[in-house]
Amino acid sequence: MKVLQERIREEGLILSNTVLKVDSFLNHQVDTRLALEIGREFARIFGDRPITKVLTIEASGIQFAMAAGIALDVPFIYAKKKKAVTLAEKVYSAPVYSFTRQENYQVSISQKYLGPEDKVLIVDDFLATGAALVGLVDIVRASGAELAGVGCVIEKSFQEGRGLLEAKGVEVHSLARIASMSPGEVCFVEEAVV
Ligand code: 5GP
Repeated sequence: MKVLQERIREEGLILSNTVLKVDSFLNHQVDTRLALEIGREFARIFGDRPITKVLTIEASGIQFAMAAGIALDVPFIYAKKKKAVTLAEKVYSAPVYSFTRQENYQVSISQKYLGPEDKVLIVDDFLATGAALVGLVDIVRASGAELAGVGCVIEKSFQEGRGLLEAKGVEVHSLARIASMSPGEVCFVEEAVV
């Protein structure tokens, strides 16, 4: 997605060879018009499948799952990172190791909102080590729902996430794929239009 690549080049802060900060338009302050455009792009890529729900993980995937849900006209669910007292019902859960926070946590969703009748599109802001998305894929499979695929806004293609997901038989589409980066420079994987 050209407009996204341009914004990453113009506003992304490359903190190291592995960490990209995009707080001015994606992760802290959110450009709402761009978020809606991202949602429409996910709908364009995956919309030929009868998706019933979009799934993400709190917090930074929420605006993109909502945008994709609006574009596909379906609800979205966000997995919770801590089991809240309000989540008293039965849950599906999976352990995740956080790349940015370097700690383990559990993600859960209520069994009320996902089941064998669903066809799910998973979306998230970043694909890095893949740990968060593998956790969501495992939850979808445990629920008996069908997985349509995974859509990521930014993929750091030099990390192992895509390989892990593909090894699980998951179709992955990312809107900006970073081949390599270093402070002041970012190179994208050029791809054919889907
Ligand atoms: P993963 O499980 O694929 O390693 O990454 C999980 C989460 O870590 C992503 O959803 C994202 O929120 C965060 N993350 C991973 N790499 C980056 C990065 O380079 N920049 C930012 N801002 N977040 C990242």
